[in-house]
Amino acid sequence: MFDVVQYLQSHNIKKIRVNVDKIQACCPFHDDKNPSLSINTSKLLWYCFGCGEGGHLSSFIARLDNIPLKLAKEKLGFPINTGCLKGSRQDLSVNLMYEIFQKGERRFVPKFLVDKGITEDDMERFNIRVMLDSAKIFLENKRYINLFGWVLFGFYDWQNKFVGFSARYVSSKNKIFWQPSIIARKFLWGEWLLEDKDKVVLVEGIFDAIFLHKNKIPSLALSGTNLNDTKINRLMERGIKNIFIFLDPDAEIKAKVMSNRLNLLGIKSSIIKANSDPDELKPDQINNLREIYENGLKKDLTRL
Ligand SMILES: [Zn+2]
Repeated sequence: MFDVVQYLQSHNIKKIRVNVDKIQACCPFHDDKNPSLSINTSKLLWYCFGCGEGGHLSSFIARLDNIPLKLAKEKLGFPINTGCLKGSRQDLSVNLMYEIFQKGERRFVPKFLVDKGITEDDMERFNIRVMLDSAKIFLENKRYINLFGWVLFGFYDWQNKFVGFSARYVSSKNKIFWQPSIIARKFLWGEWLLEDKDKVVLVEGIFDAIFLHKNKIPSLALSGTNLNDTKINRLMERGIKNIFIFLDPDAEIKAKVMSNRLNLLGIKSSIIKANSDPDELKPDQINNLREIYENGLKKDLTRL
């Protein structure tokens, strides 16, 4: 069940008063000192006595979260079953994933992506799609996954060929569910962006890699902290010679193990450390990192 009070609280809406199925609160759409917003939680209607706006609660959510009405409706009544997707991600073939991916919208940037600094141009450049239409994937036993409302991150290989996607969903309580597909264990995200470079900064998350690319630092995302044999082989086949390992601050030991392993295999590597995740670097740290990248490997470990 969609919890309206919790939703209002999580959006910092002031002076929430609850009386059975009626809620009064300050309206987020105008400068409201006395609670003029009224919500009927059994009929799912809202009205503001201050600005005169109102309608179905989905229009309220759509406006407040800056999301399409359809997605707001889904949030209200039909939460997407993430557990279902989890158990069946292996079932998706590349062809099916491609078919789904092609249906994704690239001109709409959902709020959580806007918050991450993603623009409409980035959606295209980094192969991000939003499923704004029902996208049912039928599995065995008449079960299905509906990817409606999910954000898909396309994986393309070195030759710029589509190999699959990872998907992320923002639930009605604004918690983000991350659902890495099996593809994320075989490929590095961002391979197609590397062009002819033979050195790269390896990071954990797709947003880290996007952030570094936007700052002109070639980067690949591991989708976690696991650099397995399959991924190492991909890097070797591609002729990557220098790797800068830049994991989140809590993964210090993992970075060391990774670095030792790469060095043993003949791939030169060094560790980059910062007191924040790569996608939260300050401008001077970014300049620092770009310089380190351009000068090539000099030290085993560098603090930004
Ligand atoms: Zn109002």
